[in-house]
Formats: sequence, structure tokens, C-alpha cells
Amino acid sequence: MLRLPPFRYHRPGTVDEAVALLGEFGTEAMPIAGGTDLMPNMKHRLFTPAHVVSLRGIGAMRGIEVVGGRGAGSATPAPGTEKVLRIGALETLANVAAHPLVRRHFPGLADAAGLVAGPQLRNMGTIGGNVCLDTRCTYYNQTSFWRSALGYCLKKDGTVCHVTGVGRKCVAAHSADTPPNLVALGASLTLAGPHGERIMNASDFFVTDGIWNTRREPDEILTGITIPIATGRRSAYRKLRQRNSIDFPLLSVAVAGDFEETGTVKRLTGVVSALGARPRVLAGWSELAVDGRLDGATIDALAQRAHAQCRPLDNLIVDAEWRRAMVPVYVRRALEELTES
Ligand SMILES: Cc1cc2nc3c(=O)[nH]c(=O)nc-3n(C[C@H](O)[C@H](O)[C@H](O)COP(=O)(O)OP(=O)(O)OC[C@H]3O[C@@H](n4cnc5c(N)ncnc54)[C@H](O)[C@@H]3O)c2cc1C
Ligand code: SF4
Repeated sequence: MLRLPPFRYHRPGTVDEAVALLGEFGTEAMPIAGGTDLMPNMKHRLFTPAHVVSLRGIGAMRGIEVVGGRGAGSATPAPGTEKVLRIGALETLANVAAHPLVRRHFPGLADAAGLVAGPQLRNMGTIGGNVCLDTRCTYYNQTSFWRSALGYCLKKDGTVCHVTGVGRKCVAAHSADTPPNLVALGASLTLAGPHGERIMNASDFFVTDGIWNTRREPDEILTGITIPIATGRRSAYRKLRQRNSIDFPLLSVAVAGDFEETGTVKRLTGVVSALGARPRVLAGWSELAVDGRLDGATIDALAQRAHAQCRPLDNLIVDAEWRRAMVPVYVRRALEELTES
């Protein structure tokens, strides 16, 4: 049996109290929401915080509602945006997946939340924890005993990356399902820290360093997510995994587009993830799709362009070349769903 390391459990009732606790205990403290990822990681000795600060008692971090007028709560409001959907970071993935407002405005995000892990984990796991999820790798998400046999690795307790064979960079995979959708939808993230609140575009939140792959400071808390609601917006999500009942993504594709009533594309974004340490916006989609229709030839061109841009590494359990071959297949499926909306 894998046992948890010893820790002190704190249960603040407000964001300010939680931030103060994280500041007081510094690198010895970590926030916890549903605990569905942090707890297994602690059992594997990937994290051994002496203080665990639970966010579950903070009512202000719950709720799903349409708020504001033009561009409210957005770091860079999208043109034509009338309102935003605000999702509290403590909302469970089950709630996000089933909520009528999320389903109506952002079906791709709702589907992604509903495809995380299995039902029990979605009932406990939160969207905030999903956005702040640690990266994953074959050589990292293992017991301490397993990892010791290889001399550990650069991300934790070692000096060499077993994927690249050198000691410069961790290329563990960003494996959370909701963030690629948040990036594609132009969402903003609200972070609370010792210096107050800041709002950041989801597309700026993630970095390519698999050791700590976000711009969140360790003493900051993600309190909420806002997503602009635009007329004619459609979204879809496709996820490749070994067992559809529970597994993390081996490849994920989120697409979001704004369409005229005639079907003409005004804006189209594709994001792939589970390949490197951050979700990646696919380049060159506007020139192929904007001002035209999303017909079979355009979808094919977009899928081929995605294939040319993606080169998975051996950071997850299945063959990297197979994952690459699946890129155009999953991009095509996601785009075809947009045409059916
Ligand atoms: C068997 C299994 C399968 C899984 N499959 C998937 C999958 O398919 N897709 C997927 O995306 N995930 C998967 N997960 C991971 C996890 O269940 C989800 O990502 C879940 O959303 C994590 O949320 P949580 O609230 O439980 O996070 P926690 O475990 O509580 O926290 C995760 C990390 O985020 C930090 N954190 C949590 N909330 C906040 C916040 N508000 N502000 C700042 N930091 C915060 C914690 O400090 C920790 O580092 C799986 C887990 C298991 C055990
Ligand atoms: S990518 Fe390399 S450094 Fe990162 S977790 Fe995997 S083996 Fe370790």
C-alpha cells in the first residue's frame, strides 16, 4: 500500500486566508481542491508538502453564471463580445460537464470536462485543479521505488531527462482536458496572490517547461475562469486515450470558431495538447479557413497542416509515431463536429 507522507491540513474559509497560509508556509505548502491528482502524487513522493491548504471551504470560488457586459472580466476582450460566462475554480468537472450554460455556449468545454478520468474523479475533481494540473510522463508518474531504479529524472530528484537523454529541459506532457478548450475559446483566468488579483489570458498561462508549466506563482490561487460569449460561436473537443472509461489524454484537440449565419468562417482556432508541456495553438489556420466555408477540402487542409506541426515525444506510454498519425484524424473529427453544430 502506498501511504501519504505526513502533513498538516488547513481549511480556510476565504481566498485571503488561503493566500495568507500559502505565504506563511512558503515552499512547504500547496493548495488542494478535489485532491484527485495531488493525493496520488503525494503518495508517489512527487510532492511532500508539510502543509496542505484546502480550498473546498471557500464559497466565493464556486458558481457558474453569465455576468457583465462588453468584455467584463477579460484580460483582452474579444471584439463583439457581449457577455462572459464565469466559472468558479472550485466547480467540479461533473458540474461543468452538465451545466446548461456551459453546454449551451461552450459544448466543447462541457464535453472535455465530461471526458476527464471517470465519474468518481469528476465528482471530486475541480476545473481549477484541472487547469493547474501537473504535467505527466512515463518516467515521472511512478512510485519512488520505481523512479529510484533509473536514478530519478530532471523533474524530480534527478539530473537527466530520460525522454531527451540530456539534462536541460523537462518535456513532460500537459495532460489536462479542459485547458486546450479554454485557450481556443479565449478564456481568462483570475489569480489571487499576496499582491492582490491579476487576470491572465489562458493562452498566456502555460509555458513550455514541464517542471512547472504555468505562470502561476506557488502562492497564488486560481479563483475563477471567464469565457467570452460571442454570437455564432461553435466549439468541439476530441480526445485520444487507451481506455475511454478513465484514462488521461494521449492527444487532445480543441477547436472553436465563429461563424456567420451563412456558414462563413469569421474566426477559427485549433489547439492540440498532451504532446508537450503546454497546449499549442495550431498556426496558419486563419489563412486557410477565414472568409470561406468549412467544407471537406478546407478541413483536410487544416488537418494536414496540424500533422506537419506536431511531433510527439516518447513522454507517454504509447508510440509517439502513432500519436502523430492520429493528429490529422482527431483534428478532422473535431472540425467535422463544428460543421454539424
Ligand atoms: C485515474 C485518474 C485518471 C485521470 N484522468 C484524467 C484525465 O483523463 N484528464 C484530466 O485532465 N485529468 C485526469 N486526472 C487528473 C485529475 O483527476 C483531474 O485533472 C482533476 O481535474 C484535478 O482536479 P482536483 O481538484 O482534484 O485537483 P487537485 O488534485 O486538488 O490539485 C491538482 C493540482 O492543482 C493545484 N490546485 C488545485 N486547485 C487549485 C487552484 N484553485 N488554484 C491553484 N492551484 C490549484 C494543486 O496544488 C495541485 O498541484 C486523472 C486522475 C486519476 C487519478
Ligand atoms: S520529460 Fe524527462 S525530465 Fe520530464 S518527467 Fe519525463 S523523464 Fe523526467
